[in-house]
Amino acid sequence: MTDSYVEINLTRLSNNVKAILEKYPEYKSYIGVVKGDAYGHGMRSVKALHHGGLRYFAVSSLEEAFDLRKYNAHVPVLCLEPVAIERLGEAADLDLTLAIPDIEYLRAMLAADVNHSFKLHIKVDAGFSRLGLKDKGEIKEAVQLINSSPHFLEGIYQHFATAGIFDPHYDNQIRRFKELTSLIDLDEIPIVHLGSGVSLVAHPKIDIATGTRMGLIMYGYNISPSSYGSSMKDRLRDLRDKRNQKKYHLTETYRDVQLDLSPAMSYKCRILQIKDVNAGEYVGYGAEYQAPELISIAVLPVGYNNGIGHANFGRVVEINGKRYPIIGEIGMNMCCVKVDNRVKLTDTVTLLGGGISLGRFSRASGLGLAEVLLGIGKNNERIYIK
Ligand SMILES: *Cc1c(COP(=O)(O)O)cnc(C)c1O
Repeated sequence: MTDSYVEINLTRLSNNVKAILEKYPEYKSYIGVVKGDAYGHGMRSVKALHHGGLRYFAVSSLEEAFDLRKYNAHVPVLCLEPVAIERLGEAADLDLTLAIPDIEYLRAMLAADVNHSFKLHIKVDAGFSRLGLKDKGEIKEAVQLINSSPHFLEGIYQHFATAGIFDPHYDNQIRRFKELTSLIDLDEIPIVHLGSGVSLVAHPKIDIATGTRMGLIMYGYNISPSSYGSSMKDRLRDLRDKRNQKKYHLTETYRDVQLDLSPAMSYKCRILQIKDVNAGEYVGYGAEYQAPELISIAVLPVGYNNGIGHANFGRVVEINGKRYPIIGEIGMNMCCVKVDNRVKLTDTVTLLGGGISLGRFSRASGLGLAEVLLGIGKNNERIYIK
């Protein structure tokens, strides 16, 4: 066993997908986003996600698609980012679905000498200002060009900039998408997919959409917005949100959605050393931590080389079901935990999973939720369990 490792529970991945499809059966197509090496879970996860019921996947590069094909040779795979024109032959060999980010790319792609009929999805920029067409005349032209080519227009999509819970962007993007597609017949395009995981759980079904994409949620994280508490500050926030919802005519939002999900990833390590630190002695870089009294510390073999980030805003780990604080700054390959006499050198330390939620890990490290998963998933040995 390596000093630190990530455990991926494949049964949980399958069950998460089942729970999501059961609760939200109103779309025809569900696209599982497995970019970032399946959010750090490894492409092997595709088998479990497929087993759970997903029949379409999305990646962000040819390299990821190549990796995915080792685990599933035939499932449809959309490459969210445009494949370089000179590499379309590789995309054809992998039988990839291509995203069309602008009209120039489409023209170049149609002119390329590849003997293959691609499935194409037009990307619309309805307010994110990243990839996508943002002119309705061009979108109409793109549809006409594709329909008179050997390729198949299978999808059209856009991506939301926000969850649209207290701001107008979500609704504005839906309005803009409708406007941008007003010169074409959306009913003739099999998969119209606008949203990702958070829009699925936080809002009613999008009327014109026939599909949805999802990422974080299928790895086991319920990202539905939570209700505020009953403190004065929380009640004021609630009032502000309600006022904004009226003012901007926002779509209904759902909070505290019940969804039976379990995080598939946990991160564990062994202990390198346990030692005493006397009152007044310092621990770690910058001598940031000074022992207030005689304490016992455990040295762990993990640091930012393992993707956990060097910041420590009150992090904790779990040993034998009990929480212990990380003290001092986190180094490249090591960090220290203040322990008690119940902790033994042979104990296993849990850094993520068990009682340490992704949200807690994220806040304590200053990293985003997906960023945490990618960081530790891609920088440690992965062990798959059922
Ligand atoms: C990453 C990504 C998703 C998945 O988003 P989640 O918030 O993880 O559900 C969906 N669509 C696109 C275009 C993405 O880049």
